[in-house]
Amino acid sequence: MSRPKNKTAAPIIIVGGGAGGAELAVKLAADGQAGVRLIDREATHVWKPRIHELAAGLRRGHVDELGYAGLAQRWGFAFERGTLADIDADANTIRLAAERDDDGQTLVPERSVAYRALVLALGGVTPDLGVDGVLEHAFMLDSARDAEVISERFSARLLAHARGVEDRAFDIVIVGTGATGVELAAHLATDARSTTLTPPAALPDIRITLVEAADTFMPGMNDKVRQSIGERLKKAGVRIETGQQIGKVSADAVETEEGARFTADMTIWATGRVGPPVAGDIQALSTNKKRQWRVRKTLQSLDSDAVFALGDCSYIDDEPAPPTAQAASEQAAHLAKQLPRYLAGETLEPFSFTDQGTLLSLGEAGSVGAVRGWFSDDIQVRGRLARTAYRGLQRQHQLRLLGRFRGSIEILGDVLGEAAGPDMKVY
Ligand SMILES: Cc1cc2nc3c(=O)[nH]c(=O)nc-3n(C[C@H](O)[C@H](O)[C@H](O)COP(=O)(O)OP(=O)(O)OC[C@H]3O[C@@H](n4cnc5c(N)ncnc54)[C@H](O)[C@@H]3O)c2cc1C
Repeated sequence: MSRPKNKTAAPIIIVGGGAGGAELAVKLAADGQAGVRLIDREATHVWKPRIHELAAGLRRGHVDELGYAGLAQRWGFAFERGTLADIDADANTIRLAAERDDDGQTLVPERSVAYRALVLALGGVTPDLGVDGVLEHAFMLDSARDAEVISERFSARLLAHARGVEDRAFDIVIVGTGATGVELAAHLATDARSTTLTPPAALPDIRITLVEAADTFMPGMNDKVRQSIGERLKKAGVRIETGQQIGKVSADAVETEEGARFTADMTIWATGRVGPPVAGDIQALSTNKKRQWRVRKTLQSLDSDAVFALGDCSYIDDEPAPPTAQAASEQAAHLAKQLPRYLAGETLEPFSFTDQGTLLSLGEAGSVGAVRGWFSDDIQVRGRLARTAYRGLQRQHQLRLLGRFRGSIEILGDVLGEAAGPDMKVY
């Protein structure tokens, strides 16, 4: 393997401090790697698997928001706020977009940053699938900001609806029965705090409909787990409509190609994940049909040895990993070992994904899950064990970012305090 060029550049630049990127920056710095710089368009980190709780009305403090600058200071890496606009893979530089205020005045001009190794960890976004009216009338849940917008609009529309003359239910239509749609439906149905602006006596019925294009609910999910979620959603009052190909979204309805119409005071579009929009603008690196950067098993881009990609924005050509925080975290742990080897000009080991299974915390109705056992494929776990295991998933991420001492205090808070976890959770 050839040694990386441009030795005056920052040794390692990571763009995107999400589930994978933040863990990678912390682990590299904690292991003593000098010259790690994390770049994110936001100033704070919220673990994405919890953003539907923000959409249902929790505040960022409840979902453990962390400032990147504080993390950087604690572990000894550098943080820079910036938005990736382009990559010059020949010159080993990235271009960050100019930062502007609300009036369009430039606060920070466009700038270039040189790297010896670049890690792309920008996550993904929901595709509109070219369906008429989605971008104008539907909400998507791709970031903490999106979640807050959903919560604010839900509160306001609910209040307006309650004060209106019509005496009918408030309809929320969620398109897509992947984990995002299902989790959001469960939270809105069971513990939406966005309802608090409306006096309880004036609250209308809130009717949630999950709409799926495939003939089965949660296609691709383990049958037992799927059935169990379906039953619990129905019990919580969520309607599930399968085999419905959506052709149009308008201000007050979602319409199928065959002419069926679902009244919608609010529509949430949750139809899976594609790579970030900027991946379509960057000519230097190839992407797949879902706009994810194509990488080898070493997580290096097909087009440049010095560019690595992990998590939802990447696609391993020979052995794709699922778009989950679990996979992003495993890839971060892998790169934390491999990047110093790359800088030293050593041969890199391939990444291999280890599936830990699926966990569901179903709140009052009890928790179930399927986790990978040592001797068999899936072990079904229920009740307290599943709930504890699920909570562990959230806390593992926090332990990795905060270190054992601070992370343990948070866990102790969970054990001693009122548990603030979700009622129903998938993965
Ligand atoms: C509602 C919901 C629930 C989920 N629940 C689970 C779960 O329970 N378990 C699980 O394993 N997975 C879950 N997932 C999936 C999981 O969140 C993602 O797979 C995971 O976050 C991907 O990690 P990542 O590091 O690739 O990207 P992300 O965590 O999405 O982070 C991307 C980062 O890149 C930054 N960024 C984006 N564009 C730019 C740019 N141009 N310039 C600079 N910075 C940029 C963003 O600000 C962000 O910090 C859930 C997803 C959602 C939406």
